[in-house]
Amino acid sequence: MTRLPAPRSDLGLREGYHSPQLEVEVRLNTNESPYPPPREWLEAVTEQARDMAFNRYPDRSARALREALAQLHGVGPEQIFAANGSNEVLQCLCLAYGGAGRKAAMWEPTYALHSHIAHLTGTEVVQGARKADFTLDLDACQRLMEREQPSLVFVCSPNNPTGTAEAPSTVSALVEASQGLVVVDEAYGQFASWSALELVGDEVPLVVVRTYSKTWSMAGLRLGYMVGPAKVVETMERVALPYHLDGLKQAAGRLALKFFSQMEDRVSQVVAERERVQTALVKMNQKVWPSQANFVLFRPPTSTGRDVWEALVARSVLVRDTSSWPGLEGCLRVTVGTPDENDRFLAALEEVLR
Ligand SMILES: *Cc1c(COP(=O)(O)O)cnc(C)c1O
Repeated sequence: MTRLPAPRSDLGLREGYHSPQLEVEVRLNTNESPYPPPREWLEAVTEQARDMAFNRYPDRSARALREALAQLHGVGPEQIFAANGSNEVLQCLCLAYGGAGRKAAMWEPTYALHSHIAHLTGTEVVQGARKADFTLDLDACQRLMEREQPSLVFVCSPNNPTGTAEAPSTVSALVEASQGLVVVDEAYGQFASWSALELVGDEVPLVVVRTYSKTWSMAGLRLGYMVGPAKVVETMERVALPYHLDGLKQAAGRLALKFFSQMEDRVSQVVAERERVQTALVKMNQKVWPSQANFVLFRPPTSTGRDVWEALVARSVLVRDTSSWPGLEGCLRVTVGTPDENDRFLAALEEVLR
């Protein structure tokens, strides 16, 4: 008999979120950028680090970082909340607006962490389904919201793992209809043709969540942020731990923005490659959903998905096996890599399908 206490019973047996990593030559399974951030950025961060007073607590309000982000988006610094990855932003949103007796709505298949974090914070998860093209069914969304009255409404656009983006009119209509806070997760925002940032306002129940992990090539930095009403930001500050954002990260995130055009260049390269990969997949008779992100969801027509995934691993190419996820039967998700990596993936797939 163990003397260790039992954890909260409502945690259940949920598996933590993870993507298995294997030793392969071509890693296209976690939607990271294939390119490192600019060397000049690293030099600037190193220089800052030399001058930092590490014996002192960092700026609790992350003022300089928030001012820089506010300038980037043409909003006020009081409309920005930053945290350790956008996942921590989502967690703070659930802590502040979810919790016992409250609900969070989302439409599957979508980013697994939305339901996971809601669940961890004791927020009841209410789920609807997407249309066959994986976009939202506005009428069904409105019915679910009317029936359940969720305090949080999660919209992932472009949606992970499908790559599909919502139309501006859909997001506007959801914000219009919602009694709760609409959270648009734009982890892939810069890859898309449209952003919900243009809808943000101090009296609008909408927040847009962004991350340094994908387009900024800084998944290892763990920095994300939210743009939304100043009142929501104030509330977020009450649930975040004091000094949650360390000083070095604040500086690194602020300095990254000086390399905006390099970020845009990387994004353009990835978008061009995404179009090439999509076209090649269609030519190989794969079912493909049009992506506005840095990955492509596809379904091999005559397989379980899992067997193709295994055959790709045998050729040292790792993609994400989504074939057993509800609503994604037989599907695989491939992250767009460098032109070389994409060539390797396409050649391996061609060989597997033969
Ligand atoms: C990758 C991803 C994130 C990023 O989370 P971080 O904690 O910022 O690394 C957030 N949302 C979605 C939908 C993602 O795919």
